[in-house]
Amino acid sequence: MASQEIEALSGVLARLPGLGPRSARRAVLWLVKNREQALPALLEALDAVSETLVECQTCGNVDTSDPCGICADPRRDVKSLCVVEDVADVWALDRARLFQGRYHVLGGRLSALDGVAPEDLNIATLLDRVSGGEVDEVVLAMNATLEGQTTAHYLAERLEEHNVRITQLAHGLPVGGELDYLDEGTLAQALRARRPVT
Ligand SMILES: [Zn+2]
Repeated sequence: MASQEIEALSGVLARLPGLGPRSARRAVLWLVKNREQALPALLEALDAVSETLVECQTCGNVDTSDPCGICADPRRDVKSLCVVEDVADVWALDRARLFQGRYHVLGGRLSALDGVAPEDLNIATLLDRVSGGEVDEVVLAMNATLEGQTTAHYLAERLEEHNVRITQLAHGLPVGGELDYLDEGTLAQALRARRPVT
């Protein structure tokens, strides 16, 4: 039977995505065993992050500085803007290191069901950025869900009056995906997005 404090720590960790109560207990046990090296480092890292986390006023990313590291990076191409639903998408796309432009985080997706309207998302700031004239291309990188695609469609309409190229992620076969394992939606998208063989 662990003490109240240790139980409380397990409880906090168990709420983290990817950890359940079992993994949380294992993590706590590891921290207890390695307390002399691990605990001060963990405390210091948490403290540093909690002191400095801030939302980027330009793109909506969360980082330890405003403007965020991506917006402040002079090597980034200011002409390309990739619009995503959430901060997690910025991180995922940026981990892949394929996109050299900057991002814009909407903070969600349009949803009649959840009552999310255009004014609830960072759309006005997106239009502001685009009307500044620096941006040539807007990549709509919404999720391949009905709501994601509705949002992309809406944004494409709003962006139409601006002099920018609007592109969208191709939804298709995942790398290594075998046709008979794919769901019908993915397969249909892949077929629709087919292109000439070069
Ligand atoms: Zn930013």
